[in-house]
Amino acid sequence: MKSLLTVLLLSFLCFACKQENAPQTTVKPTPQQQEFAIIIHGGAGTILKKNMTDSMEQAYKAKLTEAIKTGYEILKNGGNSLEAVQRTINVMEDSPLFNSAKGAVFTHDGKNELDASIMDGATLNAGAVAGVTTVRNPINLAYEVMTNSEHVMLSGKGAETFAKEKGIELVDPSYFFTQNRYDALQRALDREKQDSLSKATAFYDPYIKDEKFGTVGCVALDKNGNIAAGTSTGGMSNKRYNRIGDSPIIGSGTYANNATCGVSSTGWGEYFIRGQVAYDISAQMEYAEKSLSEATANVIQEKLTKLGGTGGIVALDHYGNPSMEFNTEGMYRAYMNDQGELTLGIYKENEN
Ligand code: ASP
Repeated sequence: MKSLLTVLLLSFLCFACKQENAPQTTVKPTPQQQEFAIIIHGGAGTILKKNMTDSMEQAYKAKLTEAIKTGYEILKNGGNSLEAVQRTINVMEDSPLFNSAKGAVFTHDGKNELDASIMDGATLNAGAVAGVTTVRNPINLAYEVMTNSEHVMLSGKGAETFAKEKGIELVDPSYFFTQNRYDALQRALDREKQDSLSKATAFYDPYIKDEKFGTVGCVALDKNGNIAAGTSTGGMSNKRYNRIGDSPIIGSGTYANNATCGVSSTGWGEYFIRGQVAYDISAQMEYAEKSLSEATANVIQEKLTKLGGTGGIVALDHYGNPSMEFNTEGMYRAYMNDQGELTLGIYKENEN
């Protein structure tokens, strides 16, 4: 009996030893291919549960759900990703909850200057507009620039002349007025007057104080494997000198490439421009063969954070896998897979 036990013990040890020394073959799990998928954000920033009323939280969740379902239905019915991105963004542009079109933040001079961009991952075509003040849905104008002009980016008055020529809906600038964004500007202007605050600090005030943001963005993968991405914003509160952020800059605020991924950014735009955030994610996948989650974690949590930038991205790879990466307190966000399963978030994971 004793010798039988010894033999058993020895063979167990031998087996365990072999396992330990066996060559480690890391088999990457094959990602599950989604037939189609969609992901959105409604801005990132200091979004804390303790500062949010139940009714506001419900309002954001309901609008995010309405927006993503709009795009989901288009994709489910075989529509293309560019259309899904536009229509989804339109829902958020038309809502006063977000800093985009209706509900856009105010410039230092009390105006609303809107930026947007869209990109087609199948062709690498792109369109963008910056500093428009009368275009009801800037993402639609960005699409028009992409499809019906020989340019990629138009700005200001010229972009509006182009919009008129193409029959894009124009509105009186007063359409974009919302009281709470106007009040936020007044608070920033008041603070600016305080001796203790330099003008430069006041400009970036929303990112320092407990203000919430609301640039909107969407990435969609359609049944033909085409990825599109788009972003639409009012920029940063109290901006001046016709400041333009990352949202209309292809490679910073928006990027799409069928071979890699689609990305829409939100956050402190200057850093997203300097870091070429959206393109960097795609490039890391293309050249360093990183997965989407590895690339987004590296770009947002390491590179952007090191630069001093704050914000986040939503992205889809060509399998329809999502990434919602941010280094702020929160980011309004939602994802739907081809089964119609919805993932919705506002705060950091443990606060949801
Ligand atoms: N990225 C936008 C900008 O800098 C603002 C934001 O996303 O909150 O214009």
